[in-house]
Amino acid sequence: MVFEHTYCRTCLRCCRNTEMILLRCDLERIEGLGYRCDDFAELRDSFIRLRNVDGRCIFLDESSGSCRIYDARPLGCRIYPLIYDEDTGIRFDSECPLASYWMFNCSELVKGINELMYFLRRLEIEYGYKVNWSLFYSSKKRLLRSCTNSEPQTS
Ligand code: SF4
Ligand code: SF4
Repeated sequence: MVFEHTYCRTCLRCCRNTEMILLRCDLERIEGLGYRCDDFAELRDSFIRLRNVDGRCIFLDESSGSCRIYDARPLGCRIYPLIYDEDTGIRFDSECPLASYWMFNCSELVKGINELMYFLRRLEIEYGYKVNWSLFYSSKKRLLRSCTNSEPQTS
């Protein structure tokens, strides 16, 4: 979601000290803009992640409160604050002040969950990361049940 909500432009919290993991398609898309992979990405804790400079994502323009590659930003940035927690499954990151925003827009929530599922599948393929899919689906049901305008969903 980052920056789609006007509040994000005054918050920028998730673009500071980012740990965002990059997929191959993210690298290719950003390189397609003319950036060099070595400049914006680094290997940290077994994943290729966005690089920080002075405590903020290399692509954050703090003065204007915007992302320099907004239209090409990584998939994980688009999905945030929806995240996958190894203990609890899908959840909203409590660090984000707008964490509950999606709970009032169920079609967006479904879209975000589908994107997160794609993201996790790519993590399995590209990094050998193991996803607990049974936890994923049970947390998906729980989340959709608590969405205020949720329609019955199937997993
Ligand atoms: S932490 Fe949440 S509210 Fe703040 S910029 Fe990120 S998505 Fe927006
Ligand atoms: S790529 Fe853009 S949206 Fe993602 S962390 Fe960096 S500045 Fe924020």
